[in-house]
Amino acid sequence: METVVSGIRPTGNLHLGNYFGAVKNFLKMQDEYKCFFFIADWHSLTTHPRPENIQLSVRKILAEYLACGLDPEKATIYVQSDVKEVLELYLFLNMNAYLGELERTTTFKEKARKQPDNVNAGLLTYPTLMAADILIHRAHKVPVGKDQEQNMEMARKFARRFNTIYECDLFPEPASFSYSGEGIKIPGLDGSGKMGKSEGNAIYLIDEPSVIRKKVMKAVTDSGPTVPNSEKPEVIRNLFTLLEVVSSREVYDFFNEKYNNCEIRYGDLKKQLAEDIVSFTTPIRERIQEFASDTAYLDKVVAMGAEKSRESARATIQEVRHLIGFR
Ligand code: ATP
Ligand code: MG
Repeated sequence: METVVSGIRPTGNLHLGNYFGAVKNFLKMQDEYKCFFFIADWHSLTTHPRPENIQLSVRKILAEYLACGLDPEKATIYVQSDVKEVLELYLFLNMNAYLGELERTTTFKEKARKQPDNVNAGLLTYPTLMAADILIHRAHKVPVGKDQEQNMEMARKFARRFNTIYECDLFPEPASFSYSGEGIKIPGLDGSGKMGKSEGNAIYLIDEPSVIRKKVMKAVTDSGPTVPNSEKPEVIRNLFTLLEVVSSREVYDFFNEKYNNCEIRYGDLKKQLAEDIVSFTTPIRERIQEFASDTAYLDKVVAMGAEKSRESARATIQEVRHLIGFR
């Protein structure tokens, strides 16, 4: 069975964009592949050297993923910093990673521009740590967005380079697993293209119904179509995209027909959309609260994940040491 590795950032809460763009795919993958999902707590130090409360953020995000249906019996869910083997591989990979190629990485250049006072070596070697995260489990597939494509190319390059230098075929070249075919971009309700944390337009899974209703009712619309079957402008398409993911086919068709007949009342659409989002998120929100308060269970999941991931990591690192000449 092919192995999948994916990192999860321990920052912020999950929103509808994260759910339909990423988490939903994880739920499918955990049934089809040998999955390793890790919470990337080391990575966050490249931008936040003094994290507020890293233990708490890790457990908060863990509770959210579990509430969405990530299953520690099916997938290995672990915290990056529990697997020190990753650091050893990071070191070995760094010995064969060159300054020029690291400096040329777009993500590095972007981050360096964003935080000119903290262009640290961790930022520079981010692609090496990412490669170590992937290669430590000898992963075949990594689900990533377009923005990570270059880092994935680096991971493949480091895998190939290791195999060449040490004359082995230890590492498969990890393929980017893009869902762009079946993937969906969840829009914001402020007329902007994408729902996102930094966009400040997100509807979070933990939002109370009253908060959701308020956010949806504020959604940007237009004055409505005047010609039957006219094409929807972006702000209206955005609403329909959300209907598509949270509402029933009937509801979607109902409003679509109203739109095409120029009889649409956006107020009604928004009310329905808000209720459908509430129905979708309420069971998840309740489970988040349950998981978050069950610290004993969260600790158990973390411990189980640490054990399973370390077993896989140890097997790789032993071969790596052997190949380089360490015992
Ligand atoms: P930030 O604003 O800090 O970049 P974000 O809200 O974009 O945060 P990320 O942490 O970057 O969220 O993304 C986590 C995962 O969710 C990624 O796989 C990303 O592709 C996906 N994702 C985020 N926003 C959306 C969206 N609006 N539609 C579809 N997928 C999304
Ligand atoms: Mg993002």
